[in-house]
Amino acid sequence: MNLVEVFTSIQGEGLYLGQPQVFIRLAGCNLRCRFCDTPQAWDIPPGCSIMTLNKGVTISNPVAIHPLIDFIKEDVQRYPTICLTGGEPLLQTDSLKELISEIKKRFEIQIYLETNGTLPYQLDQIIELIDIIAMDIKLPSLTGLKSFWEEHRDFLRIADKKEIFVKIVVGPQMVNEEFQMAIFLIKEVDANIPLVIQPLDNSLSLEWLFRYYTTGNKELKQVRVIPQVHKLVKWK
Ligand code: SF4
Repeated sequence: MNLVEVFTSIQGEGLYLGQPQVFIRLAGCNLRCRFCDTPQAWDIPPGCSIMTLNKGVTISNPVAIHPLIDFIKEDVQRYPTICLTGGEPLLQTDSLKELISEIKKRFEIQIYLETNGTLPYQLDQIIELIDIIAMDIKLPSLTGLKSFWEEHRDFLRIADKKEIFVKIVVGPQMVNEEFQMAIFLIKEVDANIPLVIQPLDNSLSLEWLFRYYTTGNKELKQVRVIPQVHKLVKWK
């Protein structure tokens, strides 16, 4: 697998905020969002840094699955949720299948997938191995990219077989109609899917955040406004 980094930390966003997890950041992304906070994951670096609770090493890419599991096994036994993040983890579905199958054979573990929600075919290949999905809906006015409504709809339909929540990043440049479209898209698939509204930075007033909350809450059963806490408190 091509990896950027592996580390143990505390989940800093979304509905699992505050849960210790072992993070595996996969290299490569099919998007180039304007507000991306992990551009270092767009390309494959020569080496992957592994920082577990007891050791730190750098190993060359591609990383073999069995040595990786040996490096993280103590942390996985102590904090039994693995967060697959990126970049876009679903670009390496074949390797992920092998990694997760092997990990699930050896440990009682939950697999939590963070994804941009644009690769439904790849999700379908791996959905049975995933326990929790944190899916983005990308708004073109914020990403600076084309829209992905069809991909997001197909993705949600597949993901809804498992525990899922959707995250929408909101910011001052956002076109409000796009936010409304995203809400209706979620409702069309399942109004019970929780929505996390995540402010891009601290430039939005509480008044605006309440407006977004109210817009979401009219159509969906569970809506929260949660900032990226790991950035505020400087967790990795
Ligand atoms: S999908 Fe995520 S990793 Fe990829 S460019 Fe967008 S924000 Fe960055």
